[in-house]
Parts: sequence; structure tokens; C-alpha cells
Amino acid sequence: AKGQGRGTCCYFNADMQNEAEDRLRLEQDLRQALTLRQFRLDYQPLINALDQSLMGFEALVRWHHPTRGMVPPNEFIQVAEETGLIMQLGDWVIEEACRAAATWPDNISVALNLSARQLIMPALPNTVHESLARFKLKPNRLELEVTESVFLGDSQGSLDVLKRLRAIGVGIALDDFGTGYSSLGYLNKAVFHKLKIDGSFVREAANNRETVAIIQSIVQLAKSFRMTVTAEGVETADDFTRMRDLGCHQIQGYLFGRPMSFERASDLVHGIQTR
Ligand code: C2E
Ligand code: CA
Ligand code: CA
Ligand code: CA
Repeated sequence: AKGQGRGTCCYFNADMQNEAEDRLRLEQDLRQALTLRQFRLDYQPLINALDQSLMGFEALVRWHHPTRGMVPPNEFIQVAEETGLIMQLGDWVIEEACRAAATWPDNISVALNLSARQLIMPALPNTVHESLARFKLKPNRLELEVTESVFLGDSQGSLDVLKRLRAIGVGIALDDFGTGYSSLGYLNKAVFHKLKIDGSFVREAANNRETVAIIQSIVQLAKSFRMTVTAEGVETADDFTRMRDLGCHQIQGYLFGRPMSFERASDLVHGIQTR
């Protein structure tokens, strides 16, 4: 037990103190990261399943810290959410993604991820509208990805914000579909135009008939609500043909490209092969 040899009970030991210090340092570094311009967006290709043409990119945030190196989002997004920093970071992501997309042709879209905490901000639709206007980007070139977790807290408030975003004309995708809490009732509210099937299903489908059946039902469900379907985490040629034949419209995964810099993404847009 953790408190052993330190009296009857110990609620706070050296390990816990280290953890608390690490966390505090992370928070401090994170707070500075925006002003020091340490964040970058990488862009991962979204591919048309039918003709394998490029449809757009998903923007994924990266933190380049001088001593920590490249910190992946899974290691700091949650801290950013808990400290409220996600608001400023989120605004930056919106602006940066719009700036990038505005340099690409009209048929190339950009998707970005929103945290549940951003969805409860009534000012969010305004922020999105202003970024679109600033870069003269048509609303249909921007897509916002949210997970089912947005319906855990103030679901009515989040739904209102989503509806106002939808009214602007941007796309709304339900990310990591199937991994979260069942919220099928929300599909009924006509805010989502796309379902993204989580990569764990896509890879499991290779050797699991039940998973294939789940994917079939998701595609069927999407059809009845007039939503399109993206398969994430497509890593092999077999994954690709399977997901295409199951009726997925769009493909994303290492098979067609890892997240890459804005420069490399732009090369791809203009047909320059850099691999
Ligand atoms: P996500 O939105 O589900 O993004 C997809 C993740 O899967 C990305 O990880 C991507 O690099 C990875 N991925 C793509 N293709 C493949 C594949 O074929 N195989 C495998 N194994 N993985 C693949 P990444 O970039 O580390 O992002 C992790 C998560 O961090 C994202 O999951 C998203 O939830 C969150 N995130 C990223 N950027 C942002 C952001 O700007 N704002 C917010 N709120 N969250 C973000
Ligand atoms: Ca996503
Ligand atoms: Ca996802
Ligand atoms: Ca995910």
C-alpha cells in the first residue's frame, strides 16, 4: 500500500508529489505554448472511396516543444480542456485551418476537431463565422468534428450551438462513432451530415464477422438519415476495399497518407508527389 511505513495513513507520497509537479509544469508550458507559437496543424488526406481522389484534409494539432519534442494531442488536449486553455487553442485551430483551406482549390475541404467544452460556448458560431469571413472561405469548405461526448453535459446547449453552426453552412461530423455512449437519439436532430467510423472497428473488421455486421448497420443507419460515412484508420489495401464495398464514401488512414505539414499537404493538392 502507498502509505506503508509512514504512519497509519498517507494520502500524499513522493510519487504523487512528482506527478503533481509534472502536471503543473505541463500546464505552465501549455499556457505559454500559444504565445510562443509552438502549435502546428498537420493535415491528413480524406479520400473519395469511389475514385480515390483527394477530397480534403483533417487538421490535427501538434505541439512542438523545445525540450519535450513533438507532443501528440492525446498527451495535452485533456489538460487543455481541464484548464480551459482549449478555448484559445480551439480558436487558433479554427483560424489556422481556415487560413490553410483558403489557399487550396474550391473542391478541397478542411475538417477540424472540437472539444465538448468548446460546444458549450455560445460565441463559437460567431468565431467560426468570423474566420470564414476573414479568409473568404465558403462555409461548405469547413467541417467540424465532434464526438458523442458533447451530449454528456449540457446537451441542449451543445445541440443549440451545433444547430447554429449548421445554419452557417459548415458540415458537422460525428467522430469516433460507435466507441462512445449510445446517442442514437441525437441522429434524429438533423445536425450531423457525416458519421466517422472509428479506426478500431475498421481494423477489427479484418478478422471479425460481427464487426463487419456492425459496420453494415452503421452504413445503413447513415443512409436513412442522409449522412455520408467516413472510415478512419484504413491501413491496408484490404481495409480499403472492404470499407469501400461496405458502402463507406470516404477513406482516411495511413494507407493514403499520414498527417503531414501544410507544405506537404499543399504539394499533394497540386499533384506534386513528395513520397
Ligand atoms: P481523431 O480525431 O480520432 O483523429 C484521428 C487520429 O488517428 C489521429 O491521431 C491520426 O493521426 C490517427 N490516425 C489516422 N490514420 C490512422 C491509421 O491509419 N492508423 C492509426 N493507428 N492511426 C491513424 P492524433 O493526430 O494523434 O490525434 C489524436 C486525437 O487528438 C484526435 O483523434 C482528436 O480526438 C484529438 N485532436 C487532434 N487535434 C485536435 C484539435 O485540434 N482539437 C481537439 N479538441 N482535439 C484534437
Ligand atoms: Ca477527428
Ligand atoms: Ca476519429
Ligand atoms: Ca479518436
